[in-house]
Amino acid sequence: MSETYQGHCLCGTVQLQGHGAPKLEICHCSMCLHWHGSPAIAATFENGVKITAGADKIRAYQSSDWAERAFCSICGTTLYYHLIGSDQIHSSQAGLFELPDGLKIHEEIFVDEQPDYYRFDTDAPRLTSAQMFERFEKYQAEQQNND
Ligand SMILES: [Zn+2]
Ligand SMILES: [Zn+2]
Repeated sequence: MSETYQGHCLCGTVQLQGHGAPKLEICHCSMCLHWHGSPAIAATFENGVKITAGADKIRAYQSSDWAERAFCSICGTTLYYHLIGSDQIHSSQAGLFELPDGLKIHEEIFVDEQPDYYRFDTDAPRLTSAQMFERFEKYQAEQQNND
């Protein structure tokens, strides 16, 4: 049986479940900074995330041609980032979930957009937006080859 992690928004209406091993990353991009008011600490789970309650209270804002950012329409909690056309939640906010102690940050991304007034104490690789876009292009090319 795979590990399950419970999560919820501030008011508790939206309930989520992360399945499988969690992986954490910090995103410093300017969109995440505006979305949260601070950098995003995002969690992806090996076997994905399911919404188990409150799905009808979730609203999503389409923040780019390819993605939307979802929030609870009652309490405003930021919930997850979703690639349009995908049936999977791409990543959700780590702070929603009860996660075990000892997890390490896997990587910090879009570090060239990071303001200099904060810094996290991690040993994680720090990727720039150029490196991230290179990765997305590679990923898209692979997807097309699989079609
Ligand atoms: Zn809520
Ligand atoms: Zn971001």
